[in-house]
Amino acid sequence: MAIIDVQQVTKVFGPDPDSVLPLLQQKWSKERIYRETKHTVGVNEVSFSVQPGEIFVIMGLSGSGKSTLVRLLNRLIDPTHGKIEIHGKDIVRMNAEELRQVRRQTISMVFQKFALFPHRTVAQNVEYGLEVQGVEKKARRDKALESLRLVGLQDWADSLPSQLSGGMQQRVGLARALANDPDILLMDEAFSALDPLIRKDMQDELLELQETMKKTIIFITHDLDEALRIGDRIALMKDGSVVQIGKPEEIMMNPANAYVERFVEDVD
Ligand code: ADP
Ligand code: MG
Repeated sequence: MAIIDVQQVTKVFGPDPDSVLPLLQQKWSKERIYRETKHTVGVNEVSFSVQPGEIFVIMGLSGSGKSTLVRLLNRLIDPTHGKIEIHGKDIVRMNAEELRQVRRQTISMVFQKFALFPHRTVAQNVEYGLEVQGVEKKARRDKALESLRLVGLQDWADSLPSQLSGGMQQRVGLARALANDPDILLMDEAFSALDPLIRKDMQDELLELQETMKKTIIFITHDLDEALRIGDRIALMKDGSVVQIGKPEEIMMNPANAYVERFVEDVD
């Protein structure tokens, strides 16, 4: 069974999002909708499902709707239309307690800006989520050290973030996301701020880590090379819609339309 199931999800931003749904049905473009109604289409009729243990890449240019989709999956925002199921449960219908449970145990997020607390040690940063949940001190320290070991930073536990390089800080961000042992990792442009070489290293490390941890990973990127390296499958987005979903080789060999073809031509 799919661990994530997204069915015909649409997100419109503005004062009366529902009023825009019929216009989308009539195939109005995102530009026209903005011009005539001042609503922004974030995500338009997106459907996909993800299997446990899969690395599912969502890729597209800036503004194509990737972050909106991630925020929907985490229910930081509600869809205007459509259904999002995690482990077979509709997250839009969950009450506050069920949602808290999902955020604690099921989904973790890794951000592009590592968002580490500068005055807390590396281990204290990794522990933060567990601390908020009320996990007692010894247990959360143990968990933090275990997470840091996974990303190769066990010797840096008591350093401050500023003593670490950008790549290492991002590994702390990853360790923090792993600390509550989630089933699903959401990584929104997690490597995009890193230098190209460090970025390649991080991609390799993530793939290596995935061999043992077997998480379900939603990996967002605007970089096709990265998508092809990392993804078991890739969903390519344009203007809020998914234009193609497939394995890297399928996208390369059989681009669904001229837009995907142009993307693929640029790969070295
Ligand atoms: P990406 O992550 O692919 O760069 P986003 O999901 O951030 O794209 O944005 C998709 C579209 O939704 C953009 O046109 C953006 O301006 C719009 N958008 C995102 N968040 C909001 C918001 N809170 N209010 C209005 N428009 C938004
Ligand atoms: Mg984004």
